[in-house]
Amino acid sequence: MIGVLLLSIQALVYFGVMTALLTARKVYGVGLFVCALGVMHFLETYLAAVFFIELPFGLLSPGSTVLFSGKLMMFLLLYIREDAEVVRQPIYGLLIGNILLVALALVLRFHTDVVKLPGYAPDLAFLDQIGILMVWGTLLLFVDCIALIMLYERVSRLFQRNVLASAFVASAVVLTIDQLMFYPVLHWVTGTPFSALLGGWVAKMGAAAVYSVLVALYLWFGEPARAGRRSLGDIFQALTYRNRYEDLLARSLVDEVTGVKNRAAFEQTCREWLERRSLDGRPITVAMADVDRFKAINDKHGHAAGDAVLRSVGLTLARHVRDGDTVFRYGGEEFAILLRDLAHPEALEIAERLRAAVATEVEPLDGRAVTVSVGVASSAYGAGDLRGLLDKADKRLYEAKRLGRNRVIGETVPA
Ligand code: GH3
Ligand code: MG
Ligand code: MG
Repeated sequence: MIGVLLLSIQALVYFGVMTALLTARKVYGVGLFVCALGVMHFLETYLAAVFFIELPFGLLSPGSTVLFSGKLMMFLLLYIREDAEVVRQPIYGLLIGNILLVALALVLRFHTDVVKLPGYAPDLAFLDQIGILMVWGTLLLFVDCIALIMLYERVSRLFQRNVLASAFVASAVVLTIDQLMFYPVLHWVTGTPFSALLGGWVAKMGAAAVYSVLVALYLWFGEPARAGRRSLGDIFQALTYRNRYEDLLARSLVDEVTGVKNRAAFEQTCREWLERRSLDGRPITVAMADVDRFKAINDKHGHAAGDAVLRSVGLTLARHVRDGDTVFRYGGEEFAILLRDLAHPEALEIAERLRAAVATEVEPLDGRAVTVSVGVASSAYGAGDLRGLLDKADKRLYEAKRLGRNRVIGETVPA
């Protein structure tokens, strides 16, 4: 019993300090947590190879029970709190660092000038043994981490994102496979008796249960879990560094609700237009479209229905612009459309086409058409005064609202 008590104390201290570092990342950066995690690795492998205690169900090593299982859970926690792009860094770092360590230890063996100090004989055979275990353990850890995160995501979709159940099932499965894979090599290298296979497995299941409860408590009382929406394939690509930077970038420029470009993309395009001299002297048009009486739609039909309307408006606008023109969600229920190479009357025609398309193609609510008001401003001289154009389009949008909505207002040409 004293053995179980001591293991529990170790697990609590380990979990407590590591989660304190995890929480502190917002102030001090994630480096503290990751470095502390990495430092444990050598001790963990050393203990897993040589330090066993005997419990009724067999031999177990605090190294694998407390530290190894704990480290896997720390990776899971880091993933849950951050994302695949963050957690993959220590996963790969540990793999590379440990292979480097073993390689350096190997070179050490070629020294012929090792001094024998009285009373201190370096245990070089052990260094060889631990080298093999280190490489094998590290490779397993690498696969385990990725498998744990993928399995957690998979299972949590089945369990309605219940952290406790998902963390336990995922860690129990991964630790079972890990035990089956690690033990044969451990046995081959150090001759560890068979009772360590079963004992280690029972201990790891206990660790999976204890750490899952701790993880759930941490997410419950401390930082809440973040709601992830990525597909499993996407997470796997990210964990293994195979998602392309461009994909991420492209994704970050798309508005999640409507599927059109977002405000950041709008600002980026404006910057590019302002910088690109080739656009000098070419006509440019900004149209600002705002959904009419949208607040009433939200109030009456709820936010989700409001979002569906926004999506439908965004898609309708995008369907009716010319190739090369771009629709952005500027904010709330307001869309900006950038058009090029059109004289103002032609630009107004397109804006009118967009207004009519929304009024007729977006699904009416309670028999009432969803409509937009549009303010349009053009410059025949390029993007130099883009901010001025935005301002003008905005003022005309408000004029369209004032005059009764569902209309397009552009430059008024004196008769
Ligand atoms: P007006 O014809 O004068 O434009 O009236 P309005 O009701 O459309 O104008 P107002 O600006 O008062 O309301 C805009 C509403 O849009 C308020 C806000 O709650 C809602 N809104 C902003 N962003 C979103 C969103 O992403 N989803 C949903 N469903 N509603 C949003
Ligand atoms: Mg509005
Ligand atoms: Mg508005």
